[in-house]
Amino acid sequence: MKRIKSFQQVKRLVIKIGTSTIVKESGKINYYYLEKLAKIISDLHAQEREVVIVSSGAIGIGASKFDLKQKPQKLDEKQAMAAIGQGLLMHLYKNIFSKYKITVAQMLLTRNDFEDSIRQYNTCNTFNALFKYKVIPIVNENDTVAVEEIVFGDNDTLSAVVSILIKADILIMLSDTDGLYAGDFRKNKNVKKISFVEDINEEIESFACGVGSSFGTGGMRTKIYAAKLATARGIAVAIIKGKKPEQIVGVIQGKNEGTIFLPKKITEGQN
Ligand code: GLU
Repeated sequence: MKRIKSFQQVKRLVIKIGTSTIVKESGKINYYYLEKLAKIISDLHAQEREVVIVSSGAIGIGASKFDLKQKPQKLDEKQAMAAIGQGLLMHLYKNIFSKYKITVAQMLLTRNDFEDSIRQYNTCNTFNALFKYKVIPIVNENDTVAVEEIVFGDNDTLSAVVSILIKADILIMLSDTDGLYAGDFRKNKNVKKISFVEDINEEIESFACGVGSSFGTGGMRTKIYAAKLATARGIAVAIIKGKKPEQIVGVIQGKNEGTIFLPKKITEGQN
């Protein structure tokens, strides 16, 4: 099958950055990739595109301050690490984008903000006001208050829900791998990458083995779930390699990068 058309016309993009792109396994910050990423996003911004970053990393950065080798498991500890790391994460984004004179804004959200229609409306208005000021919103789950009943738990799902709320044209998720593979490529080198997916069926879901780094959360399973949510609402989704942020440009130009999940056609009133 032919690769899909380019995404040159996309105006509104959500880019999801996972902990494993931000924090190395050693616990140190990955400045190299983050600076590459900031340059690419600043180019998109200069092309008058509206970019939202959904960024994990608060817990990972918090944990690395205390030389923890992996994310704590207990809720209160995770929340404490998030409280420590979130400010540092924002400081990081502020620094990498200041070089391009781009202002960033922190938006911490919980599931409640999407379930209550008034909160949802207000959240959407805040995004639009930030776009008006050409600010890049940096979204994370409000981990310090997000207890079990209201937690998304992973930013893949959060990024899909944000994309739906702001009617994004495309959601690009940065991953450990450069897309979805038709099997476990770490065990079998002949396993092929899937270039694009028209329908997220059981077979596609079965390819998602939940790998994740020691500081990260999701893995492929939550990404596929997020892709299912977003494509069902007419939003294209791409999974690319976090350590090759230039693939974002490739996706927009219609190059054969990562895995593209085609949006479903939506009927009037559904959106
Ligand atoms: N909100 C968490 C953090 O900032 C990350 C959740 C995830 O990894 O998806 O650390």
